[in-house]
Amino acid sequence: MTQDAVALEERLRSVNQRTEAACQESGRTRDEVTLIVVSKFHPEATVRALAALGVTDFGENRHQEAKSKTDATADLDLNWHFVGQLQSNKARQAARYASTIHSLDREAVIDALAKLEHRIDGFVQINLTANEGRGGVEPKDIERITEHVLNTPTISLRGVMAVAPLDEAPESAFERLREYSLRMQQVAPEATAISAGMTHDFETALRFGATHLRIGSAITGNRAE
Ligand SMILES: *Cc1c(COP(=O)(O)O)cnc(C)c1O
Repeated sequence: MTQDAVALEERLRSVNQRTEAACQESGRTRDEVTLIVVSKFHPEATVRALAALGVTDFGENRHQEAKSKTDATADLDLNWHFVGQLQSNKARQAARYASTIHSLDREAVIDALAKLEHRIDGFVQINLTANEGRGGVEPKDIERITEHVLNTPTISLRGVMAVAPLDEAPESAFERLREYSLRMQQVAPEATAISAGMTHDFETALRFGATHLRIGSAITGNRAE
């Protein structure tokens, strides 16, 4: 193995061990948690190396990059997650390679996906910041957007997704997210999943119920230039 592959394997093992320990501490089992490796900025070779180490779920946040990387690795049996802001005119294209879209945040995107001929999984992204310009629906709109997704037969609603704000302790942010998840479940009882937790906060996210971790640099290393 190359030095890079060894480093990748070590970082993956470390994240898996930390995930296991955080699950144990909060009385959860590792099986409840899906690890999504966010491969943005990293080449096809990194995806192949991680797939060889057993990673099955990958995330991307930009359509062009996602499209070329998923095309290039089409021979592998991988699950792709779209985790970035999605323009409604790209939504249907993204749904060709992504089995799950984590960033449903507007009626226009949901309506674009209504025209699909297959079903995909979706998360509603919630804005945890005080700034309305950031990605995600405002908390006051959770029930309305949830209903809208439930009325869209091509989307299976899995739950809520969020990115913790930079200017707040992740504990309080993920605590709010857990409340928002419960609000969503009042309307959509099956939408129990929580997509949260990145390189710098995934153990905290696990303590507050995260089921889908989206981890980039802790596994991929620094961005490849
Ligand atoms: C890049 C990205 C991640 C992973 O970030 P890291 O800090 O590298 O773990 C997770 N979620 C989203 C939406 C991202 O854009």
